[in-house]
Amino acid sequence: MSEKIQAIRGMHDILPDQTPSWQGVEQSFRQVLAAYGYQEIRLPIVEKTELFKRSIGEVTDIVEKEMYTFDDRNGDSLTLRPEGTAGCLRACLEHGLLHQPSQRLWYMGPMFRHERPQKGRYRQFQQMGVEAYGMEGPAIDAELILLTRRLWKTLGIAHKLELQINSLGTLEERLVYREKLVEYFRAHVDALDDDSKRRLETNPLRILDSKNPNLAEVVQGAPSLAEYLGEESRNHFQALTSSLDNAALAYTVNPRLVRGLDYYCRTVFEWVTTELGAQGTVCAGGRYDGLIAQLGGKPSHAIGFALGVERLIDLLDNPARFDEAVCPHAYFIRVGSEAEGSGALLAEQLRDALPNLRLVVHCDGGSFKSQFKRADKSGAGLALILGEDEVRDSAIGIKNLRKDGEQFTLKQSELIPYLQSLL
Ligand code: ATP
Ligand code: MG
Repeated sequence: MSEKIQAIRGMHDILPDQTPSWQGVEQSFRQVLAAYGYQEIRLPIVEKTELFKRSIGEVTDIVEKEMYTFDDRNGDSLTLRPEGTAGCLRACLEHGLLHQPSQRLWYMGPMFRHERPQKGRYRQFQQMGVEAYGMEGPAIDAELILLTRRLWKTLGIAHKLELQINSLGTLEERLVYREKLVEYFRAHVDALDDDSKRRLETNPLRILDSKNPNLAEVVQGAPSLAEYLGEESRNHFQALTSSLDNAALAYTVNPRLVRGLDYYCRTVFEWVTTELGAQGTVCAGGRYDGLIAQLGGKPSHAIGFALGVERLIDLLDNPARFDEAVCPHAYFIRVGSEAEGSGALLAEQLRDALPNLRLVVHCDGGSFKSQFKRADKSGAGLALILGEDEVRDSAIGIKNLRKDGEQFTLKQSELIPYLQSLL
């Protein structure tokens, strides 16, 4: 026998016993997004490498070390998308969608990052994301946060997530702050680790976000960005926090929340949990007004977030509740060649009449006993039984597989109304 080929490290199959939770989460996401008037956009998984370099920024973790980049057969450098924001904006610019005064979009799909695989951190993972364009004021910032809270409530995990928010101000404000920050860290360079020393030159704000506990003290003492915000940025943030207060949405202002990507400005936020160990950020986003012009568009406004579906699913209390939606209603047992023939026809008639019926028809024969075993295993609620006697009498046997109960017989003509009453 030849050797079995295995999946790539950090890229996981989602098996049939897990897909009900995935479908349940996707369904809730769709439903919540529809409730706020967002439209779906579907984007390619591969884009030109240049797109990510220009948007995410050369000195971010993603572009420096996490991208799956390769040369196409004609020599173009392509990259498996590490996130959805850049591709979404590229598509909107390409198709003129930003000529609308506002756009509200969502997407979902796989993203790829070459990270060290561990729980909650994979090389192929699934994101659901939202992007809203053209809106300057803080109302849309609040809307995105309210919408995520609604999703947590729908999924029953709101009590496990905490909202952290911060304002990064404008690019100009951040540049002034950046100088002060570099000055401060230069004075404390001995307290920095190698990563942070490197970032001091390239992306000093990221030092604030370091996960190294030895840096906690020096980071704590660093100047705060809040002091460098201009009036407009302060007002924007203030209006956002009052909207959240009015909606009774609790949050923590975390002045160290800077996010890894270069393109953010003003509002940034993360929903975090203490239940997933080190991989505690489930959803992250922010405003990125500057990116539109950076990708060649007319200056406008943009804000979005992305959430990691694997982490979200790990937070579900009772994932089994989603199984209900996919379990077969009935398992069709047929014994004897006549039953197989007329049973196949009957099954099709049932599906014609009851499009929502989930009916599994047993194939490849076997005794009543062996077919009943398979029916039990299938998780179906009912067994429909067709043997020689039933075929002769135009009847059908029915047995409830969940509750103990005698098998009983109906006329085949009574079967559709009977099943209908159970759906
Ligand atoms: P982290 O700090 O955990 O590396 P990030 O800042 O790189 O996250 P974003 O780029 O903001 O993450 O992506 C948004 C969300 O996507 C994250 O909050 C997380 O839930 C999820 N995510 C990011 N990278 C991974 C990964 N490698 N595996 C699984 N989920 C991920
Ligand atoms: Mg990351």
